[in-house]
Amino acid sequence: MSTLINPATGVEIDASPASATLEEADAAIERAADAFAAWRDVAPGERARLLRTFAAVVDEHLEELARLEVLNAGHTIGNARWEAGNVRDCLNYYSAAPERLFGRQIPVPGGTDITFHEPLGVVGVIVPWNFPMPIAAWGFAPALAAGNTVVLKPAELTPLTAMRIGELALEAGLPEGVLTVVPGKGSVVGERFVTHPLVRKVCFTGSTAVGKQIMAGCADQVKRVTLELGGKSANIVFADADVAAAAASAPYAVFDNAGQDCCARSRILVQRAAYDEFVGRLETAVKALRVLDPADEQSEMGPLVSAGQRDAVRSYVEGASVAFTGTAPDGPGWWLPPTVVESRDTGEAVWREEVFGPVVAVMAFDDEEEAVALANDTEYGLSGSIFTSDVGRALRVARAVEAGNLSVNSHSSVRYWTPFGGYKQSGLGRELGPDAPDAFTEEKNVFIAH
Ligand code: NAP
Ligand code: MG
Repeated sequence: MSTLINPATGVEIDASPASATLEEADAAIERAADAFAAWRDVAPGERARLLRTFAAVVDEHLEELARLEVLNAGHTIGNARWEAGNVRDCLNYYSAAPERLFGRQIPVPGGTDITFHEPLGVVGVIVPWNFPMPIAAWGFAPALAAGNTVVLKPAELTPLTAMRIGELALEAGLPEGVLTVVPGKGSVVGERFVTHPLVRKVCFTGSTAVGKQIMAGCADQVKRVTLELGGKSANIVFADADVAAAAASAPYAVFDNAGQDCCARSRILVQRAAYDEFVGRLETAVKALRVLDPADEQSEMGPLVSAGQRDAVRSYVEGASVAFTGTAPDGPGWWLPPTVVESRDTGEAVWREEVFGPVVAVMAFDDEEEAVALANDTEYGLSGSIFTSDVGRALRVARAVEAGNLSVNSHSSVRYWTPFGGYKQSGLGRELGPDAPDAFTEEKNVFIAH
């Protein structure tokens, strides 16, 4: 495994797990397939109890997991605690599923017809570096609840919390092979999840480019696949909105996690009559953002995950018309200040491409129709926000924007109670919400002749 580096300091981390080889990946998949036979037959109430115990053990180690994520990924301690808590919450939420995995009885002539939700077998979860804990749990919690076993590949840059969660699963009493964390390269371990016939579904979160390869690879075995990919989401602010509230919240909607968020509202559309007021208030809010050592309790934004990511983001800023920036620490580590660009041309890279860093582009619009057209002028469609005091407009625009997760007068995207996923090239399928376990099952129909 490449050496891990603390993104806030540039200092090497004294804990780098070895990358699994192809043979080791195969062995992990085979063990998961062996464990499936027993796991699917664990009584529903017992599987529920094990998942609740797993949640409790994660909760007992919440601070340890959070500190590990600060060290490995540079997440602010406040965010990292939320992320570890989200793993616990997903496990608790989906612990209700084994006892509620209902089929149907369908009226038919000549007999009785019933349906079952059968588990798939081994599910491969491939996780990116931006939210190592939550994205892992959105895959494994509902998959395990539905009776599947899981092999999980964390991103090479950020394996540490996933490895620890794998240990905690065993501590909680999950049988060996039910949840196996396999650290390693995407091109080795991730690729093997796609090609190994015993892996029956791949649940991938990451870049659109790799997602397309995964989808193509899965086609070979007609393997089930869920994709959560990139985004270029719009935050639409109408002049009738509470402009002060919209401007105060906008930085958090894009600079949270240093902008390394597929739901980042990285395009802000502001109705012309409110444009100057909004941008003025935005400047005040961005300058006040506390970009500090992520271990500092006051920190609201930390560093980028890697030198490579920092450089990629910086290349978008060079050549763009920067209106203003916030602050960032000097010295070592992969820091960039939150940066606001005023865009006048929708062809600019910073307006079109997913920057995946602390950069936001602002543009003015004249009317509702133009706002919707601009918001939809992208290959992506993951999330977005609408600020207005007109409830009719809020609903019209929410229905018209081609994205999976919209919020009105707020920036909420991902809540474990509600479905999450993208339109267009932002993804395929949905995660989370009450129906997530169904996505890890086959619906089987059985007809019994009378
Ligand atoms: P990525 O390359 O798509 O990586 C995501 C995961 O897929 C990692 O675990 C990666 O392994 C694995 N992977 C890579 N190539 C694979 C392959 N051929 N087969 C199977 N698995 C493979 O994303 P990234 O490089 O981390 O980030 C690049 C860009 O993707 C970002 O700048 C951003 O635009 C986007 N992104 C989006 C999200 C999101 O939540 N939608 C999350 C992260 C990144 P390795 O550890 O070896 O890379
Ligand atoms: Mg990559």
